[in-house]
Amino acid sequence: MAGEPDAHCLFCKIVAGEVPATTVLETETTVAFRDINPQAPTHVLVIPRAHYPNAASLATGAPALAADVLATAGAVAEQEGVEDSGYRIVLNTGSGAGQTVFHVHAHVLAGRGLEWPPG
Ligand code: 5GP
Ligand code: ZN
Repeated sequence: MAGEPDAHCLFCKIVAGEVPATTVLETETTVAFRDINPQAPTHVLVIPRAHYPNAASLATGAPALAADVLATAGAVAEQEGVEDSGYRIVLNTGSGAGQTVFHVHAHVLAGRGLEWPPG
């Protein structure tokens, strides 16, 4: 059920400390950790502690928590020192768009040229 831990979910396991991750920031409701396969010098994933499969289900089911994820993404950018140079927040939604982990996560990418539109 949305919001409840999913025993088979990799990111729920990271929240529970069952799978290790390099955490960069934690709040009461969110966790930010480095991507295991970074696509930029700064590549951090921000997740809500609660399990929602994607951004739309999070925004619909827990709008304040969606705001928390974005606020943590901004705090990560500040902590990483990339706020001024610019950063990108990406929410891949659906396997056709490259989503591979179905616990919503915001990619925070920075530290290299970020072309627009993206490839
Ligand atoms: P998606 O493709 O779903 O938008 O993003 C999933 C991200 O999770 C990928 O960038 C992938 O590298 C990352 N990832 C997958 N497994 C792990 C893991 O065990 N630990 C960490 N830190 N990142 C992971
Ligand atoms: Zn989960």
